[in-house]
Amino acid sequence: MSNVVRSQCPYCGVGCGIELTVNDGKVVRVTGDSAHPANQGKLCIKGATIEQMLTPTTRLTHAQIRTDRNAALRSVGLDQALDHAAQRLNAIRQQYGNEAIGFYLSGQLTNETSYLVTKLCKGLMGTNTMDANSRLCMASAVAAYTRTLGTDGPPCSYSDIEQADCFLIVGSNTAECHPIVYRRIEQQVRKHGATLIVVDPRRTQTSRYASLHLAAAPGSDTALLNGLLHILIRDGAVDYEFIAQHTTGWSEIAEAVTGWTPAQTALATGLTVEEVETAGAMLVASQRTLSMWSMGVNQSRNGVAKATAIINMHLATGRIGKPGCGPFSLTGQPNAMGGREVGYLAHQLPGYRRVDVAEHRTAIEQAWGIPVGSINSTPGPDAQTMFNQLAEGKLKAIWIIGTNPLHSMPNNSTIRAALEKAELVIVQDVYNTSSCLAYADIALPAAQWAESIGTFTASDRHITLLNPAYPAPGDAMPDWWLVQAVAQRMDFELNFANAEAIWDEYRGLTAGRYPLDVSGVSYERLGNGPIQWPCPAEDHAGTVRLYSDGRFATANGRANFQVTIPVEPAEVPSYEFPFWLTTGRVLEQWHTRTRTANVAKLNQRHNGSFIEIHPDDANTLGVSAGEKIAVIGRRGSCTSIVQINPEIMPGCLFMPIHWEDGNPNVLSINAADPISKQPELKACAVQLRPI
Ligand code: SF4
Repeated sequence: MSNVVRSQCPYCGVGCGIELTVNDGKVVRVTGDSAHPANQGKLCIKGATIEQMLTPTTRLTHAQIRTDRNAALRSVGLDQALDHAAQRLNAIRQQYGNEAIGFYLSGQLTNETSYLVTKLCKGLMGTNTMDANSRLCMASAVAAYTRTLGTDGPPCSYSDIEQADCFLIVGSNTAECHPIVYRRIEQQVRKHGATLIVVDPRRTQTSRYASLHLAAAPGSDTALLNGLLHILIRDGAVDYEFIAQHTTGWSEIAEAVTGWTPAQTALATGLTVEEVETAGAMLVASQRTLSMWSMGVNQSRNGVAKATAIINMHLATGRIGKPGCGPFSLTGQPNAMGGREVGYLAHQLPGYRRVDVAEHRTAIEQAWGIPVGSINSTPGPDAQTMFNQLAEGKLKAIWIIGTNPLHSMPNNSTIRAALEKAELVIVQDVYNTSSCLAYADIALPAAQWAESIGTFTASDRHITLLNPAYPAPGDAMPDWWLVQAVAQRMDFELNFANAEAIWDEYRGLTAGRYPLDVSGVSYERLGNGPIQWPCPAEDHAGTVRLYSDGRFATANGRANFQVTIPVEPAEVPSYEFPFWLTTGRVLEQWHTRTRTANVAKLNQRHNGSFIEIHPDDANTLGVSAGEKIAVIGRRGSCTSIVQINPEIMPGCLFMPIHWEDGNPNVLSINAADPISKQPELKACAVQLRPI
């Protein structure tokens, strides 16, 4: 007997709706959900091959433990593992206190799991020692939105794509990393004459239909964006009425960009004056500009400034809160939006509240029924600091859920040292391939997205219900269930009957919050399709666009311009390390390939790590396509296979992040943005050595 189950693609933050056809407990077909606003039935190659990755042999199906790190993990019953985890965690609490235990989460967990861990850590344990891989993904966008608009949350909607007349894409290979969004942009450019400006040191698939590709030097985006604002002011594209009515800080920002003339901008970015002027003229001519950005902006020690400079341009021109307009961060993971909403970053509480705001703490303490003062007012350590504390012995235990920091964190030898030093490492995962398992004392088997119910929030604030299509294998259980089961054994009061009960508690906490109010979003309503927040009542249809009334989420309702000062990457090319190394994804792969490695079709184009190099640089080094080459940096080295790419800036190299063998994070640097603490994963200096 077959049935169709509605869900969301578990890969990127576009959040495409899917329909899984299930036959005798097995998913036999995946199609796009034609009623879903993200994709209207379309899927990219990853989404279209989902059924091939659902039942791999690489599942972690049973709990495993070891009492000696030198021994192998051995399978045990789930109860025994849960008891063991609780006993080990309680022993650490007794000896060192709750703050000795850290949680590291993922943007691939459901809202329900992330909320439950937030409640356990920040409410019941009274520490803020939890962070998530959103720190590597969206933290700079979060900080930029909050500083300017008063709160996190992209103001735009995917439907704005069809209403825009100009797209500015900065630091994003949208065509490969957010393919369905790019398909919509491409249609708007090709069929309706919209302008497309792409800023990237590498000419990627995203520039295929670009009106202008700007190969700005790595790290120079803030200078470019300041220069574009200079032109918008000079050429009369600024909306002074909007500025006067809805913003503060205009005179400071206008003065700050005075010196960013096209000549100065060209000097700082490596572009020509003509290129800068052309981009400026395109923005001046636009009435409805949609600016999109992703990791090329966020993963930088100047990431907050870069994202802020984009938002400044929209505030200056009044192109925000209107159809086809606005600053739009594209989230990397399927639920990095939702994780932030429920409070899983070190400084957050549910409903875009903060631990360092007394009123927010009190509201949550009352709602959770815990004594006033239970929530620590000091933000916890960001991801890098948390692993540093583990390496230093300040933190004794780490519980890693649904992510592999040993692959994805910068300068990953520091993560290895931290895991080696930890007294207790719990790895909770769907797969048995995480390299963190080599350091795990306890491994807990998690059900994946298609095996349990929960919710994800996509880049444009759509919340989609994930419905279970078939039972999880072996002893695998939903992530929230595993955490609650251990917490109960530790004597914490967490007694959610199911995922819906968690969601209902969380959505109740958002009632009356502006703009993040999901109190009107019930599972029952989500059964009919996704809903876009804010949605403050059960009869509310959801909200396409934020700030349409010109009221921002600041105390006085006005958006704040913020002066943005360019800062070059922490490590720049030198005589010894003459190349920039930048990193990214390819269309067919996802993160550390736990899923995509199992789909033959996704491994046809690339079957391993590669490094793109400009032909002039290849000639100088005497290397050819297909040769193995050593990539050497100050922190480590790896090997990769040469690909010659005339479309990459000379002096710049590109490596994908997906393969363990040839992982650029042996080379990347620990530098981070001082405000967002997002690591600078996109730029470091290396040398190449032919082998
Ligand atoms: Fe999945 Fe993203 Fe592709 Fe949509 S665009 S099908 S969400 S990977």
